[in-house]
Amino acid sequence: MASVELDKIRKSYGNTAVLHGIDLGIQDGEFCVFVGPSGCGKSTLLRMIAGLEDITEGELRLGGKRVNEVPAAQRGLAMVFQSYALYPHMSVRQNLAFGLENMHTPKAEITSRVEGAAKMLQIDPLLERKPRQLSGGQRQRVAIGRAVVREPSVFLFDEPLSNLDAELRVQMRVEIASLHQRLGNTMIYVTHDQVEAMTMADRIVVLRLGIVEQVGAPLDLYNTPANRFVAGFIGSPRMNFLEGTIQRLDADTAHIEVEGLSDVRVHIDTGQCKTGEQVTLGVRPEHIRLVKESEGSARAVVATTEQLGSDSYLYCDLPQGQRMIIHHPGQTDIKAKNHIHLAFDPEHSRLFRRDDTGAVIPRRAG
Ligand code: ADP
Repeated sequence: MASVELDKIRKSYGNTAVLHGIDLGIQDGEFCVFVGPSGCGKSTLLRMIAGLEDITEGELRLGGKRVNEVPAAQRGLAMVFQSYALYPHMSVRQNLAFGLENMHTPKAEITSRVEGAAKMLQIDPLLERKPRQLSGGQRQRVAIGRAVVREPSVFLFDEPLSNLDAELRVQMRVEIASLHQRLGNTMIYVTHDQVEAMTMADRIVVLRLGIVEQVGAPLDLYNTPANRFVAGFIGSPRMNFLEGTIQRLDADTAHIEVEGLSDVRVHIDTGQCKTGEQVTLGVRPEHIRLVKESEGSARAVVATTEQLGSDSYLYCDLPQGQRMIIHHPGQTDIKAKNHIHLAFDPEHSRLFRRDDTGAVIPRRAG
């Protein structure tokens, strides 16, 4: 097992820089997820850790030792790919054993590791089959098994569930998380799916355009996003955003003017902003209440509803056309075209600067 440290890591392809100085420490045994939109550089970063891409600048350390120049096969890592990358002409047993045979592992040891991993991943009845005789989920289990038998210090996963259907993805998510519980290895997992990141990670690294936007435990990112990008990326359905201006500052409350709305308040550290400042108001769907007209900040017309049984989502439009999503616990009688009145929770609403950083305006400490 090993820690992974990235020290000012940069990557360029020719003159194009794609990673702009990544600093990150991943602890021994941690489940760390790299998440971000397509093209942000997460696969490149993982492939650099794996040794499949050169590091343009900076230092990569595994277990405290620099490994920039160490070939992939000697880093003690195992990678699981989205495409499974199984050998089609070999049986499951041969696929699992192949890497160990190449390393001249003794035969009895290979048998015991292959059968142990197959049992753990519940593919033991399939050992004599060929990959084409397996379902997508079974193939991905074999690909994971091939990593498990190598007993790597670090597991690397590159979008391993993207080719599976929704139900199987949920099942495999749980299986990979319990594999981590059982083995306790360091795992680094790349995905563009923030739900996978939220449900599997000890710590999430949010990347955008080759830089780290924020690192933290899933709920820390959800509750205290550093900026508008992270706030919008983490959470499903996503946070609602409205453009506004700070109209007045009281002790711990900013009063925000948003076109078409009244009495919008947010609790923040009022020393960190000024009257007249342009801001973006962010409110999560579960922090909007349906209220009587006299108590509301906004009138809205329901465009459509989603009834999931345990929860409902109302998609509605404000007078200026802004679309809002509201979470309603349980079931609802509200229907499309209904008029409703909304109140935003001042404690859980967030304000972001309307500049290039989109940084959150902090709340008062304590
Ligand atoms: P992600 O995994 O987040 O979708 P990638 O790491 O695959 O992103 O890619 C990051 C950026 O690097 C993208 O803009 C991509 O086009 C570019 N890139 C990736 N591989 C190469 C390559 N071999 N040559 C040139 N550009 C590349």
